[in-house]
Amino acid sequence: MTNNSIKKIGVLTSGGDAPGMNAALRAVVRACKYYNISSIGIRQGYEGLIQNDMIDLGPRSVKNIINQGGTILKTARSEEFRTKEGRQKAYDNLLQNEIDALVIIGGDGSFTGANIFHQEFNVPFIGVPGTIDNDIFGTDFTIGYDTALNTVTEAIDKLRDTATSHDRVFFVEVMGRDAGFIALNSGIASGAQDILIPEQKDSVEELCESLERSEETGKKSSIVVIAEGEQLGGVYEIAKEVKKRHPEYDIRVTVLGHIQRGGSPSCHDRVLASRLGIAAVEGLLENKTNLMAGIRSNKIVFTPIEEAIKKHNEIDAELIKVANILAI
Ligand code: ATP
Repeated sequence: MTNNSIKKIGVLTSGGDAPGMNAALRAVVRACKYYNISSIGIRQGYEGLIQNDMIDLGPRSVKNIINQGGTILKTARSEEFRTKEGRQKAYDNLLQNEIDALVIIGGDGSFTGANIFHQEFNVPFIGVPGTIDNDIFGTDFTIGYDTALNTVTEAIDKLRDTATSHDRVFFVEVMGRDAGFIALNSGIASGAQDILIPEQKDSVEELCESLERSEETGKKSSIVVIAEGEQLGGVYEIAKEVKKRHPEYDIRVTVLGHIQRGGSPSCHDRVLASRLGIAAVEGLLENKTNLMAGIRSNKIVFTPIEEAIKKHNEIDAELIKVANILAI
C-alpha cells in the first residue's frame, strides 16, 4: 500500500470543535505508525500551519484521548489562511517540516481552505468530517453528531421533568444554523410536540394548532425543539408570538448553546472517528487526494471534496412523517 512519495503526514483539526476529533487524530497517528510513516500534529488548525506551531506525534502521544471531547491539537478559525500570503507561509512551513500530505479534520469551511491550498501548491490532502451538525454531503454521519444528539436528548429529558411538573411549554433551541438534523432527531427522541427546522417552512399558526391539538387530547405540557436556523425569527420571537395568541400558556425558553459541542464522545463517534482517521491515511497512501473520507451504509466511501462542500444532505421525509405521527 505504501506510496514512497509520502513519508510524513500532517494532521490538523479546524473549524468548530466536535467530540471525536481526538479519536480521529489518534487513528491518523497510529495508522501512520502502522504503515511506517511519520506524523506531525499542527496546532490551532490552519493558524498552526502559518505560525509553524507543530508537534511530532507517535502512538503514545495520543494515549488517553479517545474518550476526550474537544481537540488536544486545539482548533481555530484562521483569517490569515484566507489570504494568498498566509497560505504561502503555510506552504513554506510544510516544506520546512517535510510534510508530504495533510489530513484535515473539520467542516466544509476547512475543506474549502484545503482545496484552495491544493490548487495553489498541489499538496495532497484528505478531509475527515468533524462537525456536530451532520450537514456534510458524502457521509451518513459526521464525527460528533451522535454525541451531540445524545447530549441534546439528555438535556431535553431534564427539561421535560420541569415541563411536566409545572404544566409548562418549553421552547428549546438547539444547534443547526443551516441544517435541522440535530433538531429533528433529538426532537423525535425526546418526544417533542413540534420541531422547527431550517429546511421546512413553518408558521406560528401551525405551531399553535399543534399545541392546541395536544391540549385537546389531554396534554398539559409540551416541548418544542427549534433549530437555530429556523425561519421564523428565533426562539424568543416564536415564544413571544405564541404567548400573544395563548396568554394562558406558561412558556419557558431554553437555549442549549455550547454544551451541545462538548463532552466525551459516544461509542458511535469513537468508532466512526477511528475508521475515518485510518481511511484518510490509507487513502493518501493510495495516492488519493482532494477527497473526503465518509461512511455510507456502514462502508467507507471517498467523495470528491468539491461535492462534499457544495452538495447538501437532504432531510429525510420519513423522519418528518415519524415526528408528525408521534405528535398526534
Ligand atoms: P464548522 O462546520 O464547525 O463551522 P468549518 O470547517 O466549516 O467547521 P470554518 O470556520 O468555516 O469552519 O472554516 C475553518 C477554517 O478554514 C477558516 O477559519 C479558514 O482558516 C479556513 N477556510 C474556510 N474557508 C476558506 C476559504 N475560502 N479560503 C481559505 N481558507 C478557508
